[in-house]
Amino acid sequence: TYLEGIANLDGLTEIYNHRFFQEFLDKEISRAIRRETELSLVLADIDSFKKFNDFHGHQAGDYVLKEVASLCTGLVREYDLMARYGGEEFVFVLPETTQDEAVIVAEKIRAAVEQHAFVFDEDDYRVTISFGVASFEQDSKPLMKKSELIERADKALYSAKKKGRNRVEPFVEKSGWFGKSK
Ligand code: GH3
Ligand code: MG
Ligand code: MG
Repeated sequence: TYLEGIANLDGLTEIYNHRFFQEFLDKEISRAIRRETELSLVLADIDSFKKFNDFHGHQAGDYVLKEVASLCTGLVREYDLMARYGGEEFVFVLPETTQDEAVIVAEKIRAAVEQHAFVFDEDDYRVTISFGVASFEQDSKPLMKKSELIERADKALYSAKKKGRNRVEPFVEKSGWFGKSK
């Protein structure tokens, strides 16, 4: 119904909200296990957005969030999900997509945002986004839980920020984290 529909949407950007993302990811993980397919998660966080708001005002910031949402929803397949994860963070769920493929998708989104002129109130603004990518892959021995998948994407995003922002980082298992390698 209409009311159920808007309950799933974020009030500012009108894309899916965090709650809907969580439900969608639950279903896609079940499906990936059942059908033995890959599934990727991309976390995206606008760079230095606190400064952006401080310099240009919260209204320009809100405009950027809306524009990023509409620009990026147009860049993914119709069976992918883009949602507002919170604040200036977005998330993408990419069914049947390997980690390497997801990195390519994220890179395409990153480049599109970097090149986009955000025109608001007769001024034009530029923003960049950092991305963390993690995947639920069939050959990665024990199938991971949702929380672990999100945690991995978050770690990758943190490393994208640390490496200088405006970049895409895949999650990489550091040897020694999960017991001895070899
Ligand atoms: P980083 O590159 O490390 O991500 O730096 P950052 O400044 O983006 O990160 P930080 O978490 O310090 O700040 C996030 C900022 O995003 C702070 C807040 O003002 C802004 N923000 C969050 N939600 C909204 C919103 O709905 N509208 C506007 N205009 N700004 C928002
Ligand atoms: Mg943030
Ligand atoms: Mg940020």
